[in-house]
Amino acid sequence: MKTIGVLTSGGDAPGMNAAIRAVVRKAQKLGAEVIGVARGYAGLIQGDFRRLTSSTVADTIHRGGTILLTARSEEFLTEAGRARALENARREGMEGLIVIGGDGSFRGALHLHKKGFPVIGVPATIDNDIPGTDYAIGFDTALNTAVEAINKIRDTATSHERIFIIEVMGRGSGQLALAAGLAGGAESILIPERPIDYDEIVNRLEKGRKRGKLHSIIVVAEGVGSALEVSKEIARRTALESRVTILGHIQRGGNPTAFDRILASRLGARAVELLVSGISGKMVGIRENRIVDVDLEEVLAGKKDIDQEVYELANDLAL
Ligand code: ATP
Repeated sequence: MKTIGVLTSGGDAPGMNAAIRAVVRKAQKLGAEVIGVARGYAGLIQGDFRRLTSSTVADTIHRGGTILLTARSEEFLTEAGRARALENARREGMEGLIVIGGDGSFRGALHLHKKGFPVIGVPATIDNDIPGTDYAIGFDTALNTAVEAINKIRDTATSHERIFIIEVMGRGSGQLALAAGLAGGAESILIPERPIDYDEIVNRLEKGRKRGKLHSIIVVAEGVGSALEVSKEIARRTALESRVTILGHIQRGGNPTAFDRILASRLGARAVELLVSGISGKMVGIRENRIVDVDLEEVLAGKKDIDQEVYELANDLAL
């Protein structure tokens, strides 16, 4: 394979640039050229392409966001849109495509694979909700951002003896909330994978108060519902006032951590190796610190559950 395409799709995640850089430089080592596609599948449909060289990706390993830009494309959901995308890719001389993104992006990639166009997926989403890999690119950075924010809020919570409810990202997944809650020492962690138990939340608050602890941190994944609702429900049950902080998009940005840069470098390079050796329809991932590859079909059929042991530990250590 002499010409490889690369795109970033779905929500941006810190470390996407490190992955693009790895793709470009590994491809160069293996004698292949790389075409960058702007704005994910939208750019594939519009034919928005740019040649990427070793120097195009210089000075990007430390940058958040994605130099290729990302977008969501309604048109790619249609057969006609995908046919146009494939036509453009082939006309440009692309022989295979590396898709850096989340599960939605992989659904799109699987369509291309089934049409006989070689693809490899690289998991990148701060939600870390992709089965088949322990980590997705961007999760570690977002986690560190959330924990840093929790640390700062904790100072105020302690000084004013207040309850703070902190909403982190994760519409369908509590991975980020659980990890941030454990690392941030939250009393309660509310995630979409587990039902909300208000009796338990109140019980924990009261236990803390009995032993003289007047401040409290509760971490809520956005998928559970609104942190404001949680605050209202606590007030209704206990007459205790709480403050709400929604971390929002600050969790998406920032310089990728060393962990995310290394992960992105390893996954990006392996994706190229697979594509060049004629393999398609796979996602590269990391399991127990080894780079693995998994069928995209298997990835998309699965659902990543949270680690029950870690969930129980977070609850045990909180009181
Ligand atoms: P994140 O986890 O950050 O949301 P994602 O990759 O899951 O990332 P989506 O918005 O779900 O983000 O998907 C990105 C793009 O992939 C969509 O805009 C669409 O173009 C394409 N896509 C998603 N689902 C499908 C599908 N079932 N078939 C074809 N293309 C799809």
